[in-house]
Amino acid sequence: MSAASDPPQSTLPYPPLKDKAPFVVLSDWDGTITSFDSNDYLTDNFGMGLEARRKLNIEILHERLTFRDAFQSEMRSIPMTFEECKRIMVRDIRLDPHFVDFEAWCRAHDVPIVIVSSGMEPLIRAVLTSQVGEEDSKRIDIIANTTIVNEDGTWDISYRHPSSGFGHDKSQAILPYRDLPHRPFLFFLGDGVSDLSAARHADLLLVKQKEGGENDLAAYCRREGIPHVLFDDFRGALKVIMGIVQGDMTKEDVLAMGAIKA
Ligand SMILES: [Mg+2]
Repeated sequence: MSAASDPPQSTLPYPPLKDKAPFVVLSDWDGTITSFDSNDYLTDNFGMGLEARRKLNIEILHERLTFRDAFQSEMRSIPMTFEECKRIMVRDIRLDPHFVDFEAWCRAHDVPIVIVSSGMEPLIRAVLTSQVGEEDSKRIDIIANTTIVNEDGTWDISYRHPSSGFGHDKSQAILPYRDLPHRPFLFFLGDGVSDLSAARHADLLLVKQKEGGENDLAAYCRREGIPHVLFDDFRGALKVIMGIVQGDMTKEDVLAMGAIKA
């Protein structure tokens, strides 16, 4: 939606680039690290509901509505304070069952993990901290949107890139790595079309398979001929990331697998 030559202005700072690390893991949050999409969950159960959300999705597909505006409508349909939303997220959102082990391995081997999300940082941070603990959560950078919370507890999403139809243009999290003198090997893990702008610039793209089988990002990659490997959960993702970091596998070996068998 925004041309590569015309990067959108960010209203929020970026964490420092991991320029000393030989390998960096960038990952989507919703539906990739979490077992289901946390914002869809809030919208479907407490906001406008599944049917109304699906209608918005169709409008986005036909390019009559941007993701940014649809997502804001969804969030505004939730008649709860920010603290209530946070409490429900922490209570109900579960991570991929193998993410905690994945995070521990990456930490032990100095492979930074950066979460790149179209969601909101305070909610992601609250869920992450509740599941991996405060110390380990702090080691993980989150590049996302944020929230504005009013005195009465009502709230709204505040976009990182208000001028982008994505609200957060994920490619801006990965593009600066291309210009580093010692560019790390970049893994990108995702599941949706919003991941595509960033995923294109990764050295190895891992696409999460959904239980129902179909996956927007996988379908898009197949159609566009973008090399990727499918994974079911973070145990499988760890297998190939470990293989590459430790030099037992090459990128070509992984891509030739097509799908990772855990
Ligand atoms: Mg996702």
